[in-house]
Amino acid sequence: MVKSSNLGYPRIGEDRQWKKALEAFWAGKIEESEFHQQLQEIRLNHLRKQQEQGIDLIPVGDFSYYDQVLDTAVMFGIVPKRFSYDGGTVPLSVYYGIARGTKEATASEMTKWFNTNYHYIVPEFDNTTPVLTENKPLIAYREAKEKLGIAGKPVILGPLTFLKLSKGYTAAQFDTWLNILIPLYVEVLEQLAAEGVQWVQIDEPSLVTKVSNEDIQRLNKIYSAFTAAVPNLNILLQTYFEAVDHYEDIVRLPVQGIGLDFVHGLQGNLQAIQTLGFPTDKVLGAGVIDGRGIWKADVREKLALLDVLAAIVPADRLLVQSSCSLLHVPVTVKRETKLQPELLGALAFADEKLEEIQLLAKALTDGKESVSSELEQCDAAIHAIKHSAARNRSDIQQTVAAVSSDSPARKQPFAQRNIAQAAKWNLPIFPTTTIGSFPQSAEVRKARQLWRKGEWKEEQYANFIREQIDLWIKLQEEIGIDVLVHGEFERTDMVEFFGEKLGGFAFTQHGWVQSYGSRCVKPPVIYGDVAFVAPMTVEETKYAQSKTNRPVKGMLTGPITIMNWSFVRDDISREQIAYQLAYALRLEVEALEQAGIGMIQVDEPAVREGLPLKAEDQAAYLAWAVKAFRLTTSTVQDTTQIHTHMCYCEFHDMIDSIEAMDADVISIETSRSHGELIHSFEQNTYELGIGLGVYDIHSPRVPQVEEMTTMIDRALRVLDPKLFWINPDCGLKTRGYEETVASLRNMVEATRIARDKYTA
Ligand code: GLN
Ligand code: ZN
Repeated sequence: MVKSSNLGYPRIGEDRQWKKALEAFWAGKIEESEFHQQLQEIRLNHLRKQQEQGIDLIPVGDFSYYDQVLDTAVMFGIVPKRFSYDGGTVPLSVYYGIARGTKEATASEMTKWFNTNYHYIVPEFDNTTPVLTENKPLIAYREAKEKLGIAGKPVILGPLTFLKLSKGYTAAQFDTWLNILIPLYVEVLEQLAAEGVQWVQIDEPSLVTKVSNEDIQRLNKIYSAFTAAVPNLNILLQTYFEAVDHYEDIVRLPVQGIGLDFVHGLQGNLQAIQTLGFPTDKVLGAGVIDGRGIWKADVREKLALLDVLAAIVPADRLLVQSSCSLLHVPVTVKRETKLQPELLGALAFADEKLEEIQLLAKALTDGKESVSSELEQCDAAIHAIKHSAARNRSDIQQTVAAVSSDSPARKQPFAQRNIAQAAKWNLPIFPTTTIGSFPQSAEVRKARQLWRKGEWKEEQYANFIREQIDLWIKLQEEIGIDVLVHGEFERTDMVEFFGEKLGGFAFTQHGWVQSYGSRCVKPPVIYGDVAFVAPMTVEETKYAQSKTNRPVKGMLTGPITIMNWSFVRDDISREQIAYQLAYALRLEVEALEQAGIGMIQVDEPAVREGLPLKAEDQAAYLAWAVKAFRLTTSTVQDTTQIHTHMCYCEFHDMIDSIEAMDADVISIETSRSHGELIHSFEQNTYELGIGLGVYDIHSPRVPQVEEMTTMIDRALRVLDPKLFWINPDCGLKTRGYEETVASLRNMVEATRIARDKYTA
């Protein structure tokens, strides 16, 4: 019999009940006991679903009150000193304090979980002595057993990955901390073994990134200690998101099972297992169902893959499972009522993925005939989407193939364009500008709601937007900004706005996924060939430009950012999708230019996020990402000034790629990594227009003139004053009116001081 297994289930709930419960608790609307009860109900409901589905190994302990990495930290009492905590079970006030900050102490940093859009809380080792405060997986196991009769599979974040994701220690201290952690993990495992747990899943996703020989030694030490302490507990060492590095060493570790990703690491893992074999004494967790994508699996293809694996690993040592936790996909397709049938039929969210896992396990156990009707249904669904009009726009496919076949470039190199642009625009030294959005007040959000509900007619809404533009064009002129923006009042979200206007996109009603904490996002679905339908931004931009003699920048979201913040089809490569998006956006760039807009900004804040986990794949990704940007922006006149903007990430190690994008001006966030960025400009010259953000927009605090002057002076030590722009770190959408105006006035004052100083 082939068993089925799941690695983790989304915690947010079909109606985002989890999010609502968290926020109600934070707002003091529900008592702690009520809160615990609500979360228990959600948790048990999720376990019940997996039980009803018939999953053999159901994960327990994957549920969280915020984030699983934070859970691991507090389980071991790793609480930064600035939070008042003096041992014992970490109270919720401290737990949420670390995650969200308190009046007295700032929150811990959060960062992206590998190459997903999930963000975890970075544990801080600041000399607190780790101890086992409570055995969270044990509590979860007991609950599932008592309430539902489920003998679950506790999920634990492994020590190597946990420590690698943490901060607050030097490289030399790594092993000291590891040696402290190992016995604590052993304690957890011993208690699980004593409880009668059969299988435990220990997640070590960092094994798909670079693994050193030293790491292999560490792994041997960790897992030898574990198996020595709990010889009767089966440990499944779980990896995901890519193929494992050092396959041979990893599969030889002293554990009872190895989980590999045969979706996102298919090539590498399959090749390794085929050429190097698989130990005869271990279970293989075959992650064949995509835990991150939203598409229905091609069951025949998966069965063929499993046949290949079953020839290497006997069926009774094979687990059919998801490639990673289902945390990264929405809960269920069943609630969607508005999607086109061929798209709806092609989707599989968490619940449907569980069905697929079961189906595959059944087919392997009872033979393919036993699932023949399901196979036919699957064939039909795949046939329908494959032959849908949306995926067969030969006009788009041909044009995109043609325009992307050579390397797109502006007519002249920057040096020449710069001369032409200087003559045309005649801007002062250190031109000032903003990133695009202005405060989206309650009034703006209300108006959009009324319009979406149909209570406001098109014209009424358009008038409202125009009034906002009027107001802010006047304000920008009065404050003394040189290059203006229209303010993006018509947009809720920089990706959704374009997705709604382009062909090939769909929007789910309930397709939410957790981004960080209670924050959920509902990514658009790029399911067909991306088509430009009609100009998307021309009207508002043209209107804004008609109200001023100063230049107004057109404002677009770039192809890579749109792609990275959407769920994308998996029948063509991401590179091809990026080129399709780029071509559609190029038509928008051209439409803006034709409408007399001579400065166009194409935002790419998410470029860095798409970076592959494997170092050897990164250069190729950056190359096509750069090409997509150039495809979007290269057909304009020399005098048309292309801007771009980046934020959220550290960019210091990709300056070359940024330069290769060949934007005339880039505005870049610096508050997060100012030091490193400046440092990298000491090493590499940057010879295009550049504005390093002079103030952090993430706080309501109004920055003082002197602070910005300091930032400007630092930047000008390494950058050419003739190419330097002055702007905030990012868009101002989330800020209030008063603070925004005050901050921008200070920014203009700091610019005046800099102009005096550097032109004297
Ligand atoms: N133009 C966008 C804005 O100002 C950029 C947002 C971003 O970088 N995330 O809102
Ligand atoms: Zn930004």
